[in-house]
Amino acid sequence: DLAKLDLKSLVRTIPDYPKKGILFRDITTLIEHPEGFKESVERIANAHRGQGVTHVAGIEARGFIFGAGVAIAMGVGFIPIRKKGKLPGETIGQNYALEYGVDTIEIHADVLDDGDVVLLVDDLIATGGTAIAAVGLLRRTGATITHAAFVIDLPDLGGAAKLAAEGVEVTALIA
Ligand code: 5GP
Repeated sequence: DLAKLDLKSLVRTIPDYPKKGILFRDITTLIEHPEGFKESVERIANAHRGQGVTHVAGIEARGFIFGAGVAIAMGVGFIPIRKKGKLPGETIGQNYALEYGVDTIEIHADVLDDGDVVLLVDDLIATGGTAIAAVGLLRRTGATITHAAFVIDLPDLGGAAKLAAEGVEVTALIA
């Protein structure tokens, strides 16, 4: 029975990855489960119907897996938000701070304009740094971003609250 499917039980926790002291939430066990994967995508799509969404944008790399499925389920196109240097056309980029150092995400400069409404999708929100950078980047095109969807929210790290302060409402399937 899909309604009773416990998605949380399909996520595996791996201690000390990528470094000692970190509990990594591994979604590969969720996506290799056929009903788990389908149900994750459908629940996200259902939570964001009727919001006028014209595009789903997913963050490299795990956000591509869920975001592509959500785009198909919602009948809209998919935008890959990529790490620096991967997109072939003219790009716009946004830097964001990592624990050590800085990273850059990019989209094609011509992919969106005002009038577009983008649903941001990623597998997990922790501090929110990645998602805030993605929202900032998408908004520079003139597009509207009012909702972001994650499979997993780690609420103690405050990312969802940070997005809310930017005017982006967060939904998550698992906390
Ligand atoms: P944030 O920028 O919110 O601190 O971190 C979220 C980003 O890091 C997401 O793109 C997510 O894929 C990745 N991430 C951080 N911690 C984990 C984790 O425990 N599991 C998974 N699957 N991704 C993580």
